[in-house]
Amino acid sequence: MASADGERFDLIIRNGTLIDGTGAPRHQADLAITGGRIGAMGDLAKSSADRTLDASGRVVAPGFIDVHTHDDRVLLSDPAMTPKVSQGVTTVVVGNCGISLAPFTPHGRPIPPLDLLGDAGWYRFPTFGAFLDAVDRAPAAVNALFLVGHQTLRVGAMDSLERAATEGEIGFMRGQIDEAMRAGAVGFSTGLFYPPARHAPTDEVVALAEAVTPYGGLYATHLRDEGALLLDSVDEALTIGERAGLPVVLSHHKASGKANHGKVSLSLAKIDAAAKRQRVSLDVYPYNASSTVLLPGRLDDAPRILITWSEAIPEAAGRELGELAAEHGLTREDMAGRLLPAGAIYFAMAEADVQTVLRYPGAMIGSDGLPGGAKPHPRLWGTFPRVLGHYSRDLGLMPLEEAVHRMTGLSAKTFGLADRGVLRPGAAADIVIFDPATVLDLATFEAPETPARGIELVLVAGKPVWRNGGTTGERPGRALRRTRPI
Ligand SMILES: [Zn+2]
Repeated sequence: MASADGERFDLIIRNGTLIDGTGAPRHQADLAITGGRIGAMGDLAKSSADRTLDASGRVVAPGFIDVHTHDDRVLLSDPAMTPKVSQGVTTVVVGNCGISLAPFTPHGRPIPPLDLLGDAGWYRFPTFGAFLDAVDRAPAAVNALFLVGHQTLRVGAMDSLERAATEGEIGFMRGQIDEAMRAGAVGFSTGLFYPPARHAPTDEVVALAEAVTPYGGLYATHLRDEGALLLDSVDEALTIGERAGLPVVLSHHKASGKANHGKVSLSLAKIDAAAKRQRVSLDVYPYNASSTVLLPGRLDDAPRILITWSEAIPEAAGRELGELAAEHGLTREDMAGRLLPAGAIYFAMAEADVQTVLRYPGAMIGSDGLPGGAKPHPRLWGTFPRVLGHYSRDLGLMPLEEAVHRMTGLSAKTFGLADRGVLRPGAAADIVIFDPATVLDLATFEAPETPARGIELVLVAGKPVWRNGGTTGERPGRALRRTRPI
C-alpha cells in the first residue's frame, strides 16, 4: 500500500471494506482519489482531501465492467446510462453478437436484429472512427469499449444474405475491419445464429477474423446454435479463434431448449480442455430467460414467450405470445408474424444450467441488456446486483470477492484494460460503493425498469455518476481504444 502521510487528495473514502477486483480477500482501508485516478490506499488518517466520505460497513470495489452489451446507440441517445450506472457499471463493451452501430449507413429501416440498436437515423457512421469521434464529442456517464460486428458488415456489403460472402465482399469487409481496428476497436464479433449471418460459412468468418490478428484484438461470438448443436457450435468458435490466432469470448453461455438442458456441463468441459491450447473465455447473465428480436421460425424451444415490443401491435408489449395467439385464434407462429418487427423474451433455459455457468470460475458477468422496448428483459437493470445479492450472498454460489472479480479484474484482463477493474494506486478511479447486506436486483419481468437496491455511489474517473438513488448529470466516460495487443 502506498504511504501517503500528509498528502492532499481530491477525495478520501474512509473506513471502507475494499474488495480490489483481483479475487483477493476483502480488507479494511481508506482509498484516496486524485486527478481521476486512485492516489493511495491504506491508512490515510494523516492525509486530507477536499472531500471525505465515510464508507463504514460498505464495500468499495472497482466499477463493474459490463462485457456484453448492446449499448452502442444509447451511449449517444441516453448518455446518463441510468440502467447501467444504477447497477455500479462504469464501463460497457458494445458491438456484441455481430451487431455494431458502425460502419453502416442504411437506406431505410435496418433489418432485424440490427434494429435492436435503433432506427436508420442512428446508423449514420460510414466509418468506425466517425462513431468513436461522436462518442468523444458527446461522452456518456460510463466508458465504452467497442467491437465491430459481422452482421452489420454483411448487411452493408452484400446484396443477398442467403449465401456466403464472395472474395470481393470479404475483401471489402476486411478493409472495414482494418479501419475499425486502427480506430481503436477491441475486436470483431459475430452472431452466426441470426438470419443475416446464418449463411456465413466458418471460412468466411476466419477470413474476416484474420483482419483483426495483426492488431492483437479478440473474437467474441454469439454461437451459431445454443440448442441441439451447442457443442458443435463451441467447436466452430474455438476453430475460428485457433485458425485466426485470436482469443475467443463465448457470449452469454447457455443451453437453450428442454432437450438440451444439462449440456453446459459438456460445453464447459470442452472449453476447459481448449483453454490448455488457446485463449478462451465466456460471459453469462444471471437469468433463465433470453431476449432478442422476435423470430417466428424459432419459437419451439420456449414454452413461454413474452413480447418486449412490437411495432405492428404496440399494446402487445408485456403480453405472453400464447395468450395473444389464443385471443386472435392463431398459431403462435402466425401471431408472431403479425407482431413484427418485434422483440421477445424466451423462457428456454434451465435454472440449474444458469447456476452451473455462473459457478464456472472463468465466467465473466455481462448483462446482454437490450435498451429500448416497452418491457425490456430485466437483465438490463438487474444483472450485477442480482449476481452480488441473489447468487453470491443469498444462494452462496460464490464468495463476494469472486463475484466482484468476475465483473471487474477478470473482465479487464480479458479485454486488455490495463488500468481498470482493480483497486490499486494509479488505476482509473472507476469505483462502486455498495451495501453488501442489502444489494439486490429489483427489476422483474413485470416491472423491468426498476433500479437495484444497495448501490450507493458510483464514480467514473473520480466523478459521481450515481448518488443517493439518482444520476448526477456528470459525463466523465470515455471512448476507450485498444492501445496494445491483448
Ligand atoms: Zn447475443
